[in-house]
Amino acid sequence: MRRKSKEIFVGNVGIGGENPITVQSMTNTDTRDVERTVKQILELEETGCDIVRVAVPDNDAAEAIKKIKQEINIPLVADIHFDYRLALSAIKNGADGLRINPGNIGSKDKVKEVVLACKDRQIPIRIGVNSGSIKREIIEKFNGINEDSMLYSALEHIRILEDLNYNNIKVSLKATDIALTVKSYKKAAESIEYPFHIGITESGTPWTGTIKSSIGIGSLLLMGIGDTIRVSLTGNPVEEVKVGKQILRTLGLLKDKIEIISCPTCGRTQIDLIDLVNKVEKRIHNISKPIKIAIMGCAVNGPGEAREADLGIAGGKGSALIFKKGQIIKKVDEDKLLDELIYEIEKL
Ligand code: SF4
Repeated sequence: MRRKSKEIFVGNVGIGGENPITVQSMTNTDTRDVERTVKQILELEETGCDIVRVAVPDNDAAEAIKKIKQEINIPLVADIHFDYRLALSAIKNGADGLRINPGNIGSKDKVKEVVLACKDRQIPIRIGVNSGSIKREIIEKFNGINEDSMLYSALEHIRILEDLNYNNIKVSLKATDIALTVKSYKKAAESIEYPFHIGITESGTPWTGTIKSSIGIGSLLLMGIGDTIRVSLTGNPVEEVKVGKQILRTLGLLKDKIEIISCPTCGRTQIDLIDLVNKVEKRIHNISKPIKIAIMGCAVNGPGEAREADLGIAGGKGSALIFKKGQIIKKVDEDKLLDELIYEIEKL
């Protein structure tokens, strides 16, 4: 069961509460380069990104937000470290959310100024605890970087905002270590009501990072923890969104595409199943139907799986049976299987 969390809004996108789990990413262009940043955000939108974050290292970047916002369609979060003036400028220029840790801003007056500006525009603040930047005294207090020091760090930042009567908050507790990340969110879920932005930080290249993120984010989602996700990959952020969406689909949390079930093939397979599955995957890529198809190599496990799916294939010698909603509808020669299957998918 999904953890109950407070609902907040980043622009028009709801996070937490009953809202669907969203997928976020972050641009890796120079935010001051409006043209390239807009181009990348539009690509992210095209892939299904729900919220985008941009780095704001200086005031020119904060001011670029105004122009970027005019060209894009999804909410934009400004990522700021330390300098409260950049936060104020990003808010003034139309950011829909901030990622800033109040404990790093400095004096209470500065935090108050940022909070008042956020209240005025009703924009949320994400508190982002990262295992690499926990304060030394907290690490010493809890004997290292662990779930206790991660949680304490988050609570410290939260308290600063709550003392200013601000609770439009989202929280993340990311580590590069999967077990630490999972333990930290699990512990935080016992005492924090704010929505969680989840992810494994700096998880690596698209190959290893996809595996690491899928295990980490997937473990949390299976426990019902997580309201918005970001897959962090060293590469094109479009890949982050693809992986994020696929994690949600794989867990049945997003039903927008066709799910393929296919067998690994073995010595019993008598059709070129690997080629068939790859071709089917390419052909159905853009079909938005929440259905399940099973492509199985033989009559051992094939008919069972094929019957359970909306459409299925159980291979034989140079031909295969096609199942629809549990019933055999036809026997088709191998060379016609791909077209027949696509024809049946389109008819559904
Ligand atoms: S479904 Fe048949 S062909 Fe495919 S792996 Fe299982 S036994 Fe082998």
